[in-house]
Amino acid sequence: MKEVNTTVQSFKESIFATMSALAAKNEAINLGQGFPDFDGPLWIRDLARNSFDGKNQYAPAMGVRPLRSSISNYYKSFYGLDFDIDSQITVTNGATEAIFSTCLALINPGDEVIVLEPFYDSYLAAIKLAGGIPVPVTLKAPEFSFDLKELEKAFGPKTKMIFFNSPHNPTGKVFSKEEMQSISRLVIKHDTYLVSDEVYEFLTFDGLKHLPIATLEGMRDRVITISSGGKTFGLTGWKIGWITASEKLSHAIRMVHQFNTFSVCTPLQYAVAEALSKLDSYVPEFVKQYGELRDFFIEGIVEKGFKPIKSEGTYFVLVPTPNGITDIDYCSELIKTKKVASIPLSPFYSKSNEGENYIRFCFAKKKETLAKALMNLS
Ligand code: PMP
Ligand code: GLN
Repeated sequence: MKEVNTTVQSFKESIFATMSALAAKNEAINLGQGFPDFDGPLWIRDLARNSFDGKNQYAPAMGVRPLRSSISNYYKSFYGLDFDIDSQITVTNGATEAIFSTCLALINPGDEVIVLEPFYDSYLAAIKLAGGIPVPVTLKAPEFSFDLKELEKAFGPKTKMIFFNSPHNPTGKVFSKEEMQSISRLVIKHDTYLVSDEVYEFLTFDGLKHLPIATLEGMRDRVITISSGGKTFGLTGWKIGWITASEKLSHAIRMVHQFNTFSVCTPLQYAVAEALSKLDSYVPEFVKQYGELRDFFIEGIVEKGFKPIKSEGTYFVLVPTPNGITDIDYCSELIKTKKVASIPLSPFYSKSNEGENYIRFCFAKKKETLAKALMNLS
């Protein structure tokens, strides 16, 4: 029989699924895959329950209007960015579908797409399936910044776009305005697009504020900004994501989205619409809750002798592997001997082997889960 798609043949199961399955098999505490082990707020789940009456048929492909309206309102009030409700905001099945639809909508076979590694795994798959050629640029540990000359060299006549993610999974880094300005200058100089994955936009700590790269001069119409209610409301299984972009780019993305999933779960869109209208009171509580979990876990692992990299945002923290042990071996040792699951970093890289030197813990877990994990890690 004939083979399946050759690009797909090169794909492996996502490291998040693999590690969650290993955690279950070994009865280990799962600090691997990024999801809270508690439900998002009851008031948001109640909103969903209430919208299960009368809101059960297909939503418009672009998303229900109240949700697009709430998205437009928060971009305006938090960041001063104006996006037209009808032509510049699209609701997707999580950020994952947003990434995928964006790649299929923008990339022609042979186009080059710059990815800063370590990168979230779906970027590479989406680029390759669209026929694009990923051009990796390695962020330098332990600050995880880029070498500007190296980044500049990665841009060329075939560059279509660059992926950018801040707050950054897996490092927990929040990129500075200066770093974003350097990237923006290159994007403008080379007339390319930038996909900005901002799913952790509300998870920044120590008083740091998220700055969407679309706010920088000359970037508004070059940036495709992607976010997700899954992270912001601790409801990763809801898969309600969204894209803000210029009318031209939004139109192209919608043309893919309509033939990919067509539309997104209707009642949950209404619940997220309402939840987003309450961000002013919700976000400070949310940051406080996750910030306390971060401090508790990081102080705990420091006491156990680990030397974590500073986590400025997201719900992840990196820990270097002991000398001579690679990330994969270290993760499997921790699962088997300490009953704690984490994520090795090498699957987030395609060029450098720097990932062998780190593992990632997720601290979006109940305090008692983190306390148990800390006891095991003794
Ligand atoms: N981008 C990043 C950086 C992520 O960490 C994740 C998922 N955790 C996604 C995208 C996908 O988000 P969603 O679950 O909304 O598809
Ligand atoms: N984004 C999550 C993480 O980084 C995983 C999401 C998934 O499993 N697709 O752990």
